[in-house]
Amino acid sequence: MGVSVSVLASGSRGNCAIVSSSSTRILLDAGISCRETFKRMKALGEDPHSFSAILVTHEHSDHIYGLQVLARKTNVAIFMTGATHQAWARSVRDEKGECPTLKKLEMFASGNVFQIGDIEVMPFTIPHDAADPVGFAFRTEGVKIGFATDLGYMPASVSYHLRHCDVLVLESNHDLEMLRGGPYPWSVKQRVMSRVGHLSNEALAQFFAKDYDGEAAYVVLAHLSEQNNHPEIARGAAERALAPRQTLLRNRVMLASQTVPLDPIRI
Ligand SMILES: [Zn+2]
Ligand SMILES: [Zn+2]
Repeated sequence: MGVSVSVLASGSRGNCAIVSSSSTRILLDAGISCRETFKRMKALGEDPHSFSAILVTHEHSDHIYGLQVLARKTNVAIFMTGATHQAWARSVRDEKGECPTLKKLEMFASGNVFQIGDIEVMPFTIPHDAADPVGFAFRTEGVKIGFATDLGYMPASVSYHLRHCDVLVLESNHDLEMLRGGPYPWSVKQRVMSRVGHLSNEALAQFFAKDYDGEAAYVVLAHLSEQNNHPEIARGAAERALAPRQTLLRNRVMLASQTVPLDPIRI
């Protein structure tokens, strides 16, 4: 079976991915409904009840929308930081001010490595306007997988955690020109462009050209804006930056989609 990565959904209408080893399967974010998560898993030939944990990057609804129902239906452990949990609990309080409980809640802290089955998980802080947002580096069976979406820029501390990855899933949110000339109100444009907003195609290309070690077999562009980006524009920007280091075995660019699950990448 080996190690695989699937992106079930990616973008501002919901994020969800799966990281699997031969014996452990982790759902990364629960931003689409439980029904849709199961439907997409089945479409990829995966058993919807086969994962052992759900990891949450941050409390924005495109990352947690399906969390409560998924937690109830699967009864697996939910991992998030304490501050993310508090922010999540505030956002899902009912009229009486009561918070639903997550039966199997596990807390982790950014920078502290932990283990889920045979997958080692390293959470690291990312610059984004949430309570305690994180990206993840996973290690299992000699393979390293890096995830970083929802970040306003690429700090050295994040590129450090993305070294020596075999698969990288990185945000390529918007084309700067499309965002500037696009339909969003100015305040939203400013938020997206800010240091705690989202990573542009141009900023990601700069990372590829300057800070990236070039070692990944696959680079997945994720969290693309539907209004302010186009898959071929994002791909073009990434491929131009990666071109000097693209070979048959290195730096193959793939695009995660909001609507269609990405075929599992097997390593
Ligand atoms: Zn976010
Ligand atoms: Zn998001």
